[in-house]
Amino acid sequence: MYYVGIDIGGTNLKAGLVDEHYQLVATKKMPLQFTSMEQMGETLTDMALALLEENHIARDQVASIGMGFPGSVDNRRGVVIKTVNIPIRFMPVAEMVHRRWDVPVYLGNDADCAALGEYYHYGDEKLESLILVTLGTGIGTGIILDGKIQAGFNGFGGEGGHIVIVHGGEPCTCGRKGCWERYASASALVRQTKAAMEANPGSAMWQMTGGLEQVDGRTAFAAMRAGDAAAKAVVKQYLDYLAEGLANFINIFQPEVIALGGGVSHERDEDLLVPLQSMVLDMCFGREAERHTKLVKAKLGNDAGIIGAALLGVSG
Ligand SMILES: [Zn+2]
Repeated sequence: MYYVGIDIGGTNLKAGLVDEHYQLVATKKMPLQFTSMEQMGETLTDMALALLEENHIARDQVASIGMGFPGSVDNRRGVVIKTVNIPIRFMPVAEMVHRRWDVPVYLGNDADCAALGEYYHYGDEKLESLILVTLGTGIGTGIILDGKIQAGFNGFGGEGGHIVIVHGGEPCTCGRKGCWERYASASALVRQTKAAMEANPGSAMWQMTGGLEQVDGRTAFAAMRAGDAAAKAVVKQYLDYLAEGLANFINIFQPEVIALGGGVSHERDEDLLVPLQSMVLDMCFGREAERHTKLVKAKLGNDAGIIGAALLGVSG
């Protein structure tokens, strides 16, 4: 049997075929062109059926279809409630697919799907729990406990980027102030790096980048390794912010594993995961426990969303 997964992104639709060993065996990609919810339902069904045809898979060889949307979903009713950047409101996706193909349809939030993908690909031993924290423009989090996505009773839960770590801090797009993603996302790191450069005209970061326009999430880490004091301070503070939120998660869930995703997660272990692991341990409850939450790099990269969407059918 196979599982079909579709990752609905802001600019692209990516579909994939996942086998019984949870491996991605075929993919298909197309640009997202949204004209109406009706058209979108047709496109998603067309795409799934085309993926089967291209790979000579019959409909009855597919156990389920899962779709990951950038927003909130009601999986039980098969309805996408609301998405970010695409004007979808209360779209009955399962019903739309069922007009042409009677297959179980599962829906998830994209960050939750990515977390589910990481959960099933962690290793040989089945995990009790995993939280995926993706550091990007914001911070996406997906919470998996006992193999199940935790998104709250209404589908809006598991939004760890919007836990407040600085009371009365920087305003966030969600309406609150001081949210974790305003301080510990990749975009926040870029802002912090630029501010440090402006305050330190002698910093090596100026020569390394050639100017503020070229600053990215790697700048401060690279300059720190070259011995630049201002860069070292930026990284130290960034890790402090990151650890603050991670410790909050650990205090609530004590997850077996927290996987970090996004470009920042590719920094060398000794510059990121190793210091974070000890900072977090110093901050959180359960220091005396025999086993502690392990911080790891996410494994699946860009495919996590498709694989996780497909595995919504396994998770149930
Ligand atoms: Zn927020």
